[in-house]
Amino acid sequence: MGISNNILHHIENFTAQRDKELLAFSLLKSIRDILNPTQARILTVNGQDEPIMEIVINGNDACHYNYQNITISENIKASLDYISKWHLDELMEAHEEQYTAFHVLKQSRQLSQYLIVNLDNKPSRSESYIIKGMLSIYSNFSSLLAEAQTDELTGLMNRKTFDESIVKLYQSSALDEHNQNSANWIAIIDLDHFKTINDTYGHLYGDEVLIHVARALQQTFRQDDMLFRFGGEEFVILMRNLKREQCMELLERLQHQVSKIAMSTIDDITVSIGVCEFKNDIFHITLMDQADQALYHSKQNGRNRVTFYDNIVEAGLAQDKVVQGGTVDFF
Ligand code: GH3
Ligand code: MG
Ligand code: MG
Repeated sequence: MGISNNILHHIENFTAQRDKELLAFSLLKSIRDILNPTQARILTVNGQDEPIMEIVINGNDACHYNYQNITISENIKASLDYISKWHLDELMEAHEEQYTAFHVLKQSRQLSQYLIVNLDNKPSRSESYIIKGMLSIYSNFSSLLAEAQTDELTGLMNRKTFDESIVKLYQSSALDEHNQNSANWIAIIDLDHFKTINDTYGHLYGDEVLIHVARALQQTFRQDDMLFRFGGEEFVILMRNLKREQCMELLERLQHQVSKIAMSTIDDITVSIGVCEFKNDIFHITLMDQADQALYHSKQNGRNRVTFYDNIVEAGLAQDKVVQGGTVDFF
């Protein structure tokens, strides 16, 4: 009865989560309670097998994320290669009385995610059985959550997810502050004269254009940049740890990708872009207003261009106002 109550408690915790990361925290906490590991972590690697994120729990500490300088030992690397090569779901490695359990949470060409648990004792058969059950609930629930966070038309993240992500950026960017050369950036992208496309060719055709633009975004940006469909024909990108020139380069590459979209009846599809630097001490509504003012400048100056907010401030063209609340309406 004790054990089943305990399991029910973990399941209840899983299903109470409305966010993918919190769900991952719940999974790690459950693993800790059941297996008492020295460490448990969820490791995400990109298509080139480079680690891009880890969530770690050590002993009784709280879970924490890590986006930079993630170290993977040669042993772990070899085990992950072995898992990929043989298409395994799980693997148990033993080395000098220490056990490392690997479970594949997600595997695709662009992204793979593993649960890696370091243990002093080999899990019993019933413990392994319980963990398997937990992982299967985790996996089902995580697909449901992913669906709720995704924009149906484009497959990018939706507006609701943006609000949650920006809060996380405030929490995590304090950790990045030692990196003086690079910054985080917010860009708002708005299609030019989209209403004309809709009015001329119809809404369905317009939708097709939006799908192409979303694809251009996915082709341009890196795995750790976050892409959102913010509203009708507006997209927002959160870019992490980039120098200003790199940010500009990516946005120009996006303009190039968009210009290559070939739709038989439309000559040119273009986007206008407004960018501002993400600053930890500025309220996000104010930051969005800054990016929006930069976007407005792009629109007023011929469209199909990128404007940085600080440039229009220097030119005396922006109002340095602080927005206290409410919502920001773009074009
Ligand atoms: P500007 O260059 O100034 O941005 O001009 P615009 O025509 O793009 O700007 P406006 O904001 O006036 O028009 C946006 C249009 O986007 C209006 C609306 O019909 C269309 N729209 C919004 N959401 C969707 C959608 O999901 N699908 C399609 N097809 N159209 C949409
Ligand atoms: Mg528009
Ligand atoms: Mg608009």
